[in-house]
Amino acid sequence: MADVKDYWQNYIDGAWVDGGAGRIEVMNPATGELLAEHALADAADVDRAVQAAQRVHRSGVLSDLRPVERGRMVQAMGRYLLEHIDEIAPVLTLEQGKPLWESKIEIEGAARYFEYYGNQAETVEGRSIPLGAGYFDFTTYEPFGVSAQIIPWNYPVEMTARSLSAALATGNAVVIKTPELTPLTNAWFATAAEACGLPDGAVNILCGLGQQAGAALSSHPDVNQIVFTGSVPTGIAIATAAAQNVVPCVLELGGKSAAIVCQDADLQAFESDARWGIYFNAGQVCSAMSRVIVDHAVHDDLVDRLVGVANGLSVGPGIDRSEFGANMGAMVSEAQRDRAAGMVSEAVAAGARVAAGGRKLNQPGAFLEPTVLVDVTPDMAIAQQEVFGPVLTVLKSQDDTQAIKIANGTPYGLVGGVFTRDLDRATRATRALRAGQVFVNEWYAGGVETPFGGYGKSGYGREKGREALWNYVQTKNVAIRLG
Ligand code: NAD
Repeated sequence: MADVKDYWQNYIDGAWVDGGAGRIEVMNPATGELLAEHALADAADVDRAVQAAQRVHRSGVLSDLRPVERGRMVQAMGRYLLEHIDEIAPVLTLEQGKPLWESKIEIEGAARYFEYYGNQAETVEGRSIPLGAGYFDFTTYEPFGVSAQIIPWNYPVEMTARSLSAALATGNAVVIKTPELTPLTNAWFATAAEACGLPDGAVNILCGLGQQAGAALSSHPDVNQIVFTGSVPTGIAIATAAAQNVVPCVLELGGKSAAIVCQDADLQAFESDARWGIYFNAGQVCSAMSRVIVDHAVHDDLVDRLVGVANGLSVGPGIDRSEFGANMGAMVSEAQRDRAAGMVSEAVAAGARVAAGGRKLNQPGAFLEPTVLVDVTPDMAIAQQEVFGPVLTVLKSQDDTQAIKIANGTPYGLVGGVFTRDLDRATRATRALRAGQVFVNEWYAGGVETPFGGYGKSGYGREKGREALWNYVQTKNVAIRLG
């Protein structure tokens, strides 16, 4: 077991500090035992962090740098994470529940954001617009100033990396509100910022309750831009707060994403898509493959395969699961596990059948068996609402048209997928699916380079890729009358 220190502080204006709201207990979801305590920020702590970030912004110390120099610092932060991966990964596993090998994948993914956006720093170029001989006109992009970033518990390292790297690369200063359940690993962003030469106040990291520190941050009058990843109700609260201050926000909310499996799909290959799509991170992924809509002709064959995938995963404490393989860890908390198990029971009461899993493990910790639900109809709650757990819902379709109608039949629209050997059929489906990203024949195809974000209630704005950069800058046009 890794040696985890008992008490972790917030990081404000380059200093480690206690929280005005006291401390919060961080539990190990694999055992149900106390892991550590973390300082809990109040509104005054949030204010100090925002003022420190504003001071950095107004000083120009980041925004006046030649972008390549800023980019090098951002890239160095990614290398720092990789150099410390053996320290960070066990803490991530102990606070979040995922297997150790998944923690390493998450940290590598986080480092990749710093590599990518560090590289992009010097590509945010303006252009000149011709206004005739008497004028010189150009358009440039400037950082907003203070970027407030509110982070969810499912990928605390990767989600922070995603927005922090792009914000710094474009010259913003940042205040991060870490999730109450998994705040510990964000500490390495503070030490990375220090080690890589970022000025005090450029990166501030604090844990606090959503209703207190989160609300104080999102409504703070000196915050200039907000990035939020989390649930729809919180997203609405944050967008409302942003509107009061007339600042833009990026909302990455939940999903109920569907894979359409056509009768000509490679069913064997799809087993791997299902394994990653719904059981990676115990299904606590916003873009999880939480629904499979399968053509009736191959329904029974596919269900047999999905049951094999689910039953083939060994479930237990993530810290013992160091090697990549057919295993799954705890969910993030017993409350989240009970919520997911409750949704399975309700689905059964509504007429669904458990083909695999469905039960809590009879041992301490927040474990739920990898679950496959069949005989689900599109109107059931389990087919409409996000479970955020290892629960796959299988629906049957008569043809592609019906499959697409079912896929589009929720308020969400984060990602979607289509599995077929026929490229025309796939292309038609990609046009018809209302989702911000569509995978063909590989769930989670794409990467840091490809824009990601939702249609409908899944949010607005985009993270990842070059698209995301434009969320962190504002446009300035300069029109000069020549003498
Ligand atoms: P959540 O909305 O409860 O909390 C997310 C963050 O918001 C936490 O840091 C929390 O403290 C804070 N918060 C809560 N209330 C707040 C308020 N009133 N004002 C300001 N901040 C507040 O979500 P969660 O339970 O932590 O995460 C799970 C949800 O996040 C799921 O719905 C999932 O789909 C979504 N998610 C989306 C993405 C994505 O990229 N689209 C990624 C991860 C998670």
